[in-house]
Amino acid sequence: MHWWIVFVTLACAAANARGEAVKSIRLALPPERDAVIENIGRVFVRQIESRCDAKVTPDGEAPLVVELVVAPGIGAEGFRIEDGGAGRIRVVGNDRRGLLYGVGKLLHASRFDADGFTPGAWRGASVPKMPVRGVYFATHFQNYYQVAPIEDVTRYFEDLSLWGTNSLLVWYGMEEFNGFDDPKAQAMITRLRVLLKIVKDLGLDASLGCIGNDGYKNSPAELRADSSTVDHAGYHTNNGPRIYNLGNELCPSKPGVPELEMQFCQEKFGAFKDIGLDYWFIWPYDNGGCTCPKCAPWGANGYLRMAEPLARAYRQAFPGGKVILGTWYFDRWGVGEWDGIAAKFAEKKPDWVDYIMADNFEEYPRYPLDKGVPGGLPMLNFPDISMWGQDPWGGYGANPHPGRLQARWDETKHKLSGGFPYSEGIYEDINKVIVARLYWDPDRPAIETVRDYAAFEFGPDVADDVTTVVEIFEKNHWRNQIGPSAATAVELLDRIEPKLTPQVRQSWRWRLVRIRAAIDQEMYRNTLGQGREEVFRAAREELTAILRSQDAWPMLRPAVIPAVKREGEGQPKAENDGR
Ligand SMILES: [Zn+2]
Repeated sequence: MHWWIVFVTLACAAANARGEAVKSIRLALPPERDAVIENIGRVFVRQIESRCDAKVTPDGEAPLVVELVVAPGIGAEGFRIEDGGAGRIRVVGNDRRGLLYGVGKLLHASRFDADGFTPGAWRGASVPKMPVRGVYFATHFQNYYQVAPIEDVTRYFEDLSLWGTNSLLVWYGMEEFNGFDDPKAQAMITRLRVLLKIVKDLGLDASLGCIGNDGYKNSPAELRADSSTVDHAGYHTNNGPRIYNLGNELCPSKPGVPELEMQFCQEKFGAFKDIGLDYWFIWPYDNGGCTCPKCAPWGANGYLRMAEPLARAYRQAFPGGKVILGTWYFDRWGVGEWDGIAAKFAEKKPDWVDYIMADNFEEYPRYPLDKGVPGGLPMLNFPDISMWGQDPWGGYGANPHPGRLQARWDETKHKLSGGFPYSEGIYEDINKVIVARLYWDPDRPAIETVRDYAAFEFGPDVADDVTTVVEIFEKNHWRNQIGPSAATAVELLDRIEPKLTPQVRQSWRWRLVRIRAAIDQEMYRNTLGQGREEVFRAAREELTAILRSQDAWPMLRPAVIPAVKREGEGQPKAENDGR
């Protein structure tokens, strides 16, 4: 056989693995399958079958076979995608996580349309650069994560995990409850357990957090923390007369409080014992902290005194678990908290801390960037992807801001080992994916991830146009600076829409983009006196349903925006009713 015949034969045999649409796929799981691997298989099936009418079968003849394999040697949590012969693609995970992310990569590079499933042509290996690629789902204010049906949240987290996320952090805030046995507290524990089980079912890490001095609503008043900064040694008042306490926090310098805090934590450890907590967060402020003289300055004194025994107790309850020590709002009210913790950790490197968490709502804290991380410990970030610049949060639809995330990333990435973006709901899905990809591949630009996201969620043919729309959204991010480009975004989306599959057109991700464009256009029209009440109303109703914010607190409920019309334009004419 001549070389060119061999070539042609191979090329034909591999056609289905190289870009021909198929309507049926056989999924071959590895022989060493367990519950996690079977779950990864289910995620693959759901992704394919919900995005096109191709079917996935476990056996029988099919024009395409996708074979899942676990074989170490690629690098922790990494994967390789390779051709496995005629009509066969092999996804090789270094470990079970690598398999999940490899399945994600294959799906993200593929096409789903009326012809069925066209497998992505990407071949090669990929290994995450940063080890901690988490996300924090806040469960409060009756937000999405607190109230949405658990099946929805499960699908949502699975979707996210395909982009490389490997840990979910949840929080048990005590301020609303009268003790651990309060039925409301138990309901919260039940919800958090269910959320963390989603993560464990995928073989990923469960994380729980607490503040260093939390207290229940009914904790004894005489044990409570001081929150005033006025005339308090170790504090300044540049950022107000009080730290952001809720009133229930306790002072660990008062007799009996350290024992109480230990009891609170032991109750939590017990509640999550069978699930397993891979990371334990301890947090200083917002809420949290005590400004009394014995605890001052909190971040370098009372906080550390309380955090150390809690961290050690956690490690005892969960051997192998990692402790993340927060520095949020250090020096915001305190004087010398960064310097203080750095001096202490320089004197003796703490054996009870695995990671330092540093971030800030406004500018990133300069201290660890300029002077190094206390104790030389690895550092994680906690980027806000939910609240920046738009109020109510999620109140206008999708809020992507790749430019801002990129700028902050460029400033900090060399110091980071990963992190946990702060999420209040699903409206910032694009931001979550951007951050997940930055942790995986720190040098890949955020805007390229937007394109990858658009190609997967909406289709490869419209990815560039959707990316342009996202750039317009960011330009119009501030609600009082929306320009005429808002109309361009709507025009682009109108042109894209007929090219989408019915599944995409109905998907909440697409609707969040459309709603944002519609609201921005109307807000711009408002500046011209041409707002349309019915557009605002329809957007608000649909957004409320998607975000499940019917009962959410006001900061999470879609905004009521009155349409502004110029005198005489489109106003109903005053009727003379004859009186
Ligand atoms: Zn105190």
